[in-house]
Amino acid sequence: MRIVAALFPALLAAQTYDLALNNAHVIDPESGLSAVRHIGIAGGKIAAISRTPLQGKQTLDCAGLTAAPGFIDLHAHGQDEENQILQLQDGVTTALELELGDADVDAWHAARAGKRFLHSGVTVGHVPLRKQIFEDTGDLVPSGPAKDNAASEEQITRIRAGIERGLLRGALGLGFGIQYTPGASRWEILETFRAGARFQAPAFIHIRTMGGQAGPGAKPAAAGAAAGPRLQPRPMP
Ligand SMILES: [Zn+2]
Repeated sequence: MRIVAALFPALLAAQTYDLALNNAHVIDPESGLSAVRHIGIAGGKIAAISRTPLQGKQTLDCAGLTAAPGFIDLHAHGQDEENQILQLQDGVTTALELELGDADVDAWHAARAGKRFLHSGVTVGHVPLRKQIFEDTGDLVPSGPAKDNAASEEQITRIRAGIERGLLRGALGLGFGIQYTPGASRWEILETFRAGARFQAPAFIHIRTMGGQAGPGAKPAAAGAAAGPRLQPRPMP
């Protein structure tokens, strides 16, 4: 075994990888590694991280650059090609729309099929469901009745049904922008939480005002913790 271990660095160096990224400052949070290393990539996967330079069919000198696992952006509203290209340049490989989410998870994925550069996913959102039910024409957040109007019991039932449908269709959890729906009662928010609690779904919530103070959603969100879902309060915006 000792002989094999001694030979191993030489074997790594002798092998030709598809791509060698030499002299990069490699950061790996999982192992705690933070040092200059040489990365060998074969078949689209990291095959070696070496203390000595590696050979590749293509070799890049990455001196002065950092190599790290792809970042996961939990708060990505920009889910089009233009935004994804910019995110790639920032090292993001997974972009998730978790805060606001969407009312129709299937349609959200269908609209992006074949056009994605990144891993992506979406929650089923209280805000877009409210916009749909109130026929609010606001762009990202409500600007009319879905912002200010109270929901009837029948409308709350429809929101709950939309949450359940989304979770059954692969939503990554519940999205809340309580800041943007001051018309939503505490009861409505609690009922929406309860719909997610049946699935033990995580909830991602915008609870703060633009000034950084606790907004009208803070108490319902805190109360929602008792209703079941795991909470992920989001900083603004
Ligand atoms: Zn946001």
